[in-house]
Amino acid sequence: MDAVNSVELDAQAWRHEVRAWLEQNVPSDLVGAGALAAPDAVQRRREWERRLYDGGYAAIHWPVEFGGRGMGAVHRMVFQEEYERVSAPPRLNVQGLMLVGPTLMQHGTPEQQERWLGPILRCEEVWCQGFSEPDAGSDLAALRTSAKVDGDEFVINGQKIWTSGANHADWCFALVRTNTAAPKHRGISAVLIDMRSPGIEVRPIKQINGRGTFCEVFFDDVRVPTANVVGEIDDGWNVAMSALALERGVGRRTYVKYLPLIETLERMTEVSGLGQDSAALDDLGMHVVQVSKYRHHVGRTIAESANGRFGPEASLNKLFWSEMEAAIYESGMRLFALASAADAGDSRDYSRWEADYWHSRATRIFAGSNQIQRNIIAERVLGLPKEKR
Ligand SMILES: Cc1cc2nc3c(=O)[nH]c(=O)nc-3n(C[C@H](O)[C@H](O)[C@H](O)COP(=O)(O)OP(=O)(O)OC[C@H]3O[C@@H](n4cnc5c(N)ncnc54)[C@H](O)[C@@H]3O)c2cc1C
Repeated sequence: MDAVNSVELDAQAWRHEVRAWLEQNVPSDLVGAGALAAPDAVQRRREWERRLYDGGYAAIHWPVEFGGRGMGAVHRMVFQEEYERVSAPPRLNVQGLMLVGPTLMQHGTPEQQERWLGPILRCEEVWCQGFSEPDAGSDLAALRTSAKVDGDEFVINGQKIWTSGANHADWCFALVRTNTAAPKHRGISAVLIDMRSPGIEVRPIKQINGRGTFCEVFFDDVRVPTANVVGEIDDGWNVAMSALALERGVGRRTYVKYLPLIETLERMTEVSGLGQDSAALDDLGMHVVQVSKYRHHVGRTIAESANGRFGPEASLNKLFWSEMEAAIYESGMRLFALASAADAGDSRDYSRWEADYWHSRATRIFAGSNQIQRNIIAERVLGLPKEKR
């Protein structure tokens, strides 16, 4: 048997194992519309994450020495596809698992790895990412939240914004300015901040879809041990760049997530009376082709990452899925509007779709806006001249 066949057979066996486990273990009250809005949803999701850990599925891609199973990209995508197939709840500790953990493995000291990795895996400590500030988003290096050294502690003052999940996070992976004299990319440090420290105030921002998933975070003389710096003091930019590549990379979305959306579009095309309309069918066909293209695109990224080629190409993935997702929701909104005019809409489906439609607008912005992804692709993938600033 050649190596490719052996990987395929192995992946098939893995798919059967994961499917069987998920079907038996995903709590029914955490599946489907509305589940995440329940008052105790965060606590229930912490319990679900713990069940994943106990089953050995918390972070299959983490190296064995850090508590994972050392599985490669193919197994990881199979897991994610099966996870989405049963509509299991979004991972609560995504910042811990995808961002903080791998960053600590790369840049942290053995003491830091020992202290923080286990609680991330077991979801005992949930993380948020404190990078963006009111005047530092795309131009992240303009951040101003200051950290002044006082003995063996930093004293932190300033503000973060758009911090997803800060309202239920235990820890924040933050970028702070430790040196105002150095060029702006060189005076930044990455620090781990206990969200229960005195002087932190978290204010959730109510979004247009009614959800309040991201927050403003204010720091007023917050004391943090200097031992919580990841990497060297003033070298946080390098730490942040490897963290951001992880955030945009493989494993965030699979094509499976989009299959039920395409089914809804098909149904709504019929319901809205456009089942024979060539423009509407063209539109539907375009979405089907995009999802199929995305599937192959992710496959190619996985193959490249297995060959150790995984860097700015992550921006292609992010750009593709976010534009595709936004376009699918836009089409759906038009169809729901027509169906409702024909008095044939399904209001339960619609309210979920509308909330997700608003969220899909944000996919073009978070993890680095799509304009910035285009700049990265132009300069670092295609080798075009650098943007003039
Ligand atoms: C749902 C959501 C969740 C988020 N979660 C987090 C989080 O958990 N932690 C965190 O730190 N941040 C988070 N963010 C913030 C996110 O990273 C920023 O919003 C993003 O980087 C853009 O920054 P900005 O909002 O300041 O916009 P700006 O940087 O002010 O950009 C405004 C517009 O100008 C464009 N633009 C800016 N510079 C250029 C350029 N050089 N070339 C071309 N166009 C340009 C942008 O593309 C955008 O369209 C989140 C954002 C959203 C929407």
